[in-house]
This record gives sequence, structure tokens and C-alpha cells, in this order.
Amino acid sequence: MTRKIAILSGDGIGPEIIAEAVKVIHCLQREYDFQVELEEALVGGAAIDATGGPLPQKTRELCQQADAVLLGAVGGTKWESLDIAIRPEKGLLDLRAEMALFSNLRPAILYPQLASASTLKPEVVSGLNIMIVRELTGGIYFGQPRGIRTLANGEREGFNTLVYAESEIRRIGRSAFEIAMKRGKKVCSVDKANVLECTELWREVMTELAKDYPEVSLSHMYVDNAAMQLVRAPKQFDVIVTTNMFGDILSDCAAMLTGSIGMLPSASLDANGKGMYEPIHGSAPDIAGQDSANPIATILSVAMMLRYSLNETKLADKIEKAVNTVLDEKLRTADIHTEGTRKVGTEEMGDAIVAAIMRDMWGDAGGGASTDSQCARSSGLSNELD
Ligand code: NAD
Repeated sequence: MTRKIAILSGDGIGPEIIAEAVKVIHCLQREYDFQVELEEALVGGAAIDATGGPLPQKTRELCQQADAVLLGAVGGTKWESLDIAIRPEKGLLDLRAEMALFSNLRPAILYPQLASASTLKPEVVSGLNIMIVRELTGGIYFGQPRGIRTLANGEREGFNTLVYAESEIRRIGRSAFEIAMKRGKKVCSVDKANVLECTELWREVMTELAKDYPEVSLSHMYVDNAAMQLVRAPKQFDVIVTTNMFGDILSDCAAMLTGSIGMLPSASLDANGKGMYEPIHGSAPDIAGQDSANPIATILSVAMMLRYSLNETKLADKIEKAVNTVLDEKLRTADIHTEGTRKVGTEEMGDAIVAAIMRDMWGDAGGGASTDSQCARSSGLSNELD
């Protein structure tokens, strides 16, 4: 069965990191009879430049039809002065809402090879493996009313609304409990129930839901304490489930524990497991076009796509193993480079991961001779998308 993947490169480093992820997909296609069709579409600033809006109709349709979506990143200084309603980031928010991608999975895994790249002591972070489950289509980022108004006394006032329906809390809670069942069977629900009624309800619903999962232990934590605990003793967490805004902030914090945001993938899923997959970082305009972005977060996003939407767990394992191999070989992009390791660019890192997948398939003897040409072919194939 041929599956369709929508490829949305976006802006800044987006096209560079997506090109490397596409090389990996083509390698799996060729070597493991993985039947997949890739189709590219515009989003974000690139779409604004070409069509006047950040989410063209053609992109919407492609994403609705596809089995999964792979996204680079959107945004950049060029579009910052635009009205917030037509900025690149709005395209992404609209797409998440239209596809009903309410469950955002953000793993924070510390690869042992990168323990020294974390700003925390190796003994605090070594072996870290947290899954943050963030609600993605509700809460204060979407609540109405919202805006900036002028009061009777002439002063301006900004306002947003934090709102969660019980059903929204229940479905994200279920996502978290299901994932915990496949991991360490611990869920920590993060809220601010001591001040916000909306999250008081959040806590009540999570507690009710826990009755359906007797094997999972549920704890609750206020968000300020959770932020502190994440840097004090992060290994206490298995699965964290939280609201849109709290998850946004905590997941970036958790990401830094692992050394670089260039290493971390994410998945955003709907109720049927269809998803959009993207690195957690943005478009990094400061390093765009320099062949220095780390493509690993995007390549690991492909692994998540294989695992969560395409039911190809073995292929996901192959990618994750190949990433481990190149880290063992001490290849590092600039963001994770330390003394005693070899600094490589975006393309070389992508090629090395493809080569590691090939070696895994053919072994050193069989694959060694063909690896370079296979990599070159991979690069050529990725250009089909240009
Ligand atoms: P950013 O994540 O783009 O960059 C933060 C820092 O991390 C920068 O120093 C950057 O060089 C570095 N970095 C990011 N990804 C990297 C990678 N793969 N390899 C090496 N270094 C990497 O965040 P920002 O600077 O706050 O935002 C830049 C633009 O991206 C803004 O327009 C913002 O709105 C947008 N953004 C988009 C998304 C998304 O598309 N999902 C997410 C966050 C930010």
C-alpha cells in the first residue's frame, strides 16, 4: 500500500533540514520496500511570498488527503511586521486546528554521547527520557474573546481567554495515559489549579480518567514547581501532560536539558493517529543557508511518523539506530560540537545517517563500496522535490 506524505519545507533552515529527512525516506523506500509518495506544498513565509497567505488552499487539501505531514519550520524576520493574522506562524496554527491535531508529543531524550552538551551536570541528565504531551488546539492560544481594546479612560488593555471543555481535557489525558502504558506507566499532570479555575477542572478530569488506567500512577504538579523540578531532578518524570501554553514553555525547557533543540522531534496527532511531524525548533534565520543546521530533529521526526502514523516501527528503529551510530562516530553539527568530536555540516550529517542505515542493511562489507554512490543517489532523489 502506497502512503502519501505531504512535505512542507517552510522557511529559514526548513528546506535544508527537510532535504536531509527526504534523503532518509528515499533510502528506506529503496532498501526496505517502503511504499511512499512524497508531495511538496508551500506554507509560512514561502507561501506568503508566492500566494499572499501563509496556508494556501492547495496546501490545506494536500494535508487533508495525505497520510502524514512532514514540516520543516516557518517564520523569519522578513514577515515579522505583517499583521498577526497573516504571519507565517498563523499558517501553522491554522493547519494544526484544521487537521484537529490536539495531541502534541514532544520527547526529550538525552543521548548518552551528548551528556556533556547539556548545561546540567551529566549525573542529573544522563539517561533522561521524558515524553511531554501538550494539548495543542485549545487553551489560551485559541480562546475567545481575545484582542487589544481601549478602555473608557483611554488606556489600552490586552486580553486573552483560557478555556478548556471537559471533552478536550479528557481526550488529551487519554493520549497521555495510553502513551504511559507503553512506557514507564507514570503520568504527571501539570496545571495551575491553585489560581486558575480552568485548570482546576483539568485536574478533576485527569483524576477521573486515571480510574480507567489502574496500572498508571498519576501525580499532579503546579506549573511553577514543574519548571523547577525539570531542571532540579528531571529524571523523576516519565510522561508529562499539560495545557497548550504550559506545554509550549516546559517542552522548550526540557529540550535544553538534552543539549540542543536541534536534536528533538515532535508529533502532533489527531484522534485517528494521523499526524504532522516536525522538529521542535523554529526556522533559525540566524543560521539559514549556511549548511550548519542540525538535521537530526527532522530526521527523528520521520522516525516518529513511521511509528505513530504509518505503523512501520521497524523502520523507525532503523533511523533511531542510525542516529545513535553517527553520534558514536563522533560526528556533530555546530550546535552539539564539543572538543574531541568532528564538526560536520547539515548535508554531511544527513549523508552519514543514510550511510549508517545502509550499513545496517548490508553490513560493512556489502554496503561499504556502494554507500557513497547510494548517498549521492539519495541527494539526487531529494532534488526531485525542488
Ligand atoms: P529557533 O528555534 O528558530 O532558534 C533558536 C536558536 O536555536 C537559534 O540560535 C538557532 O540558530 C538555534 N537552532 C534552532 N534550530 C537549530 C538546528 N536545527 N540546528 C542548530 N541550531 C538550531 O527560534 P527563534 O529564533 O525564537 O525563532 C525563529 C523563527 O522561527 C521565528 O520566526 C519564530 O516565530 C519561528 N518559529 C517557528 C516554529 C515552527 O515552525 N514550528 C517554532 C518556533 C519558532
